[in-house]
Amino acid sequence: MHSPSSASPRSTAARRLADPSRRPARSSYDAVIVGGGHNGLVSAAYLARAGLGVLVLERQDHTGGAAVSAQPFSGHDARLSSYSYLVSLLPKKIVNDLGPTFRTRRRRIASYTPTTVDGRATGLLVEDDEARTRASFRDLTGSDREFDAWQRFYGMTQHVAERVFPTLTAPLPSRAELERLVDDRAAWEALFGRPLGETVEATFSHDLVRGVVLTDALMGAFTHAHDETLLQNRTYLQHVIGNGTGDWNVPVGGMGALTDELTDAAVAAGAEILVGHEVVHIDTDGARAEVHYRSQENEGTVAAAWVLANVAPTTLTRLLDEEPDPAQSAPEGSQLKVNMLLRRLPATPPSEI
Ligand SMILES: Cc1cc2nc3c(=O)[nH]c(=O)nc-3n(C[C@H](O)[C@H](O)[C@H](O)COP(=O)(O)OP(=O)(O)OC[C@H]3O[C@@H](n4cnc5c(N)ncnc54)[C@H](O)[C@@H]3O)c2cc1C
Repeated sequence: MHSPSSASPRSTAARRLADPSRRPARSSYDAVIVGGGHNGLVSAAYLARAGLGVLVLERQDHTGGAAVSAQPFSGHDARLSSYSYLVSLLPKKIVNDLGPTFRTRRRRIASYTPTTVDGRATGLLVEDDEARTRASFRDLTGSDREFDAWQRFYGMTQHVAERVFPTLTAPLPSRAELERLVDDRAAWEALFGRPLGETVEATFSHDLVRGVVLTDALMGAFTHAHDETLLQNRTYLQHVIGNGTGDWNVPVGGMGALTDELTDAAVAAGAEILVGHEVVHIDTDGARAEVHYRSQENEGTVAAAWVLANVAPTTLTRLLDEEPDPAQSAPEGSQLKVNMLLRRLPATPPSEI
């Protein structure tokens, strides 16, 4: 894991922006965006293309937020994602509209989970090749039952993904509207109606298979399979609906390759981006706002008709000086990544490693 400061912005725009001595060019903007993560950058590009005067204020010395790249192995020109590392939820519409040309690589192998059965080393391989995946399930569980259940379960998930994903670029639907859209009572109940652990236990009988399914529900979130808040269901859906397929692809050059291009797109559209500028306070009467910022070398205020907060809800509450909502805690999660640079992939099949 590398600190954000080891991220190396590569594009012309990203390099040019790393100057904390700059001040906003104007005293008033149509829209001020707090935070230059990828969502702030996409918003800046769209708003500037619509002809609005846009300012992005980013507290770090580079744009990209949690979607940045680093060059962790000295002497090797390998740029890897520092935090966020797989692309799935980026709608094709945004790629088509804003034109980033970053490339992704498909992962043929979704997962391999090693285990031992009666002292024998084995594991569950899930990959693009259906026949090999079926064989791996049979080898582990002794029959086709679990793989058939897997096929039905992910068929249901795919149906939901195809219905839900397009709503990500539309006004937020109500729960009732979403249920109508999903239009499948059993799928709704299984994924939105009850803790996912119950669905998984009713669908699969092998503990390791249950664990593999629940990976998408528990990864990076402090929750458990039977959490009544259904945080695990939301985490699962976030991991399986991407572009209607749930495919997660590896960005060539790391996530920074994408966010550098989004920075370029926002600047090319006319947005102004200041890095090294932290927003410290927002005053608003509900109609207009004053955004107070601070950098290493200066501080000031800009006026805005609209403020977009590309920050955690708790950060916005603090910036507005509002009473914290006791039900709202600062976002937290857990993740450990191990990066390895290999000369070649292991030659032996995973089941024999
Ligand atoms: C370890 C890890 C792994 C992940 N893996 C994946 C993955 O593989 N695929 C995936 O799709 N998602 C992944 N995610 C989630 C993904 O990174 C986030 O959903 C995404 O980065 C959110 O983007 P954002 O633009 O909304 O916010 P952020 O990326 O959080 O950007 C917010 C920006 O606001 C800035 N900011 C905060 N406060 C202020 C302030 N007061 N003034 C000015 N600027 C401020 C921050 O410095 C930051 O640059 C991962 C997240 C983590 C932490």
